[in-house]
This record gives sequence, C-alpha cells and structure tokens, in this order.
Amino acid sequence: MIFHRKCKSCNGEYEYEGYANLIVFCPNCYKFDYLECEYGYGPVVPCRIYLGNEEIAMVTYHNGGETKYQYDSTKFCLHKDLKNDYLEALYEARDITAQLLKV
Ligand SMILES: [Zn+2]
Repeated sequence: MIFHRKCKSCNGEYEYEGYANLIVFCPNCYKFDYLECEYGYGPVVPCRIYLGNEEIAMVTYHNGGETKYQYDSTKFCLHKDLKNDYLEALYEARDITAQLLKV
C-alpha cells in the first residue's frame, strides 16, 4: 500500500510504501521524517529504511552470537552490526542512514 506524506522538515510531498516497521527519509531534503514500528506489539525488525519510495537499507535480527541486530544497505554498500537492541537499534540505524545521506 502506498502512503502520501508531507515532510515535516521541508514540507515537500512524497510517497512511500507501507511496511510493519519502517524508517522514512524525505527524498526532497534527505532529512529523517518518520519512524513507525510495532514497538510494544511485536518485533521491530525487519525494518525497512526508505528514501521516499526507494528502499535503501534494512535492519534485521540474527540469532546466536553476540550480535543480534544488523544494518544492511545495498545502496551504500554498508553492512554492519548494530550496538543497540530493539527500538534503540532502529534509532541507531536511523542515525547511520542520516550520516550516509549527508552530502
Ligand atoms: Zn523534506
């Protein structure tokens, strides 16, 4: 399902595809705009990270070992383990993406 949004930073309009857990960056100004997840109801991953309607990264969960949450971006060729858990892992992923989008 496609949703419409108005960016809270630049007021520009854009579309994004709905998903249970998602982080959306504005395709106009590249700023973080929106985070939605099933926090308190279900797993917060997999979480898709969008630049408008383009999926640019994904946060996933792995069992076993020390590392549980992982960040993968095919667009930026970045694959790394996250230091934080659960909702904090999503915030960490959001901050990583914000750094990557800074031009
Ligand atoms: Zn914007």
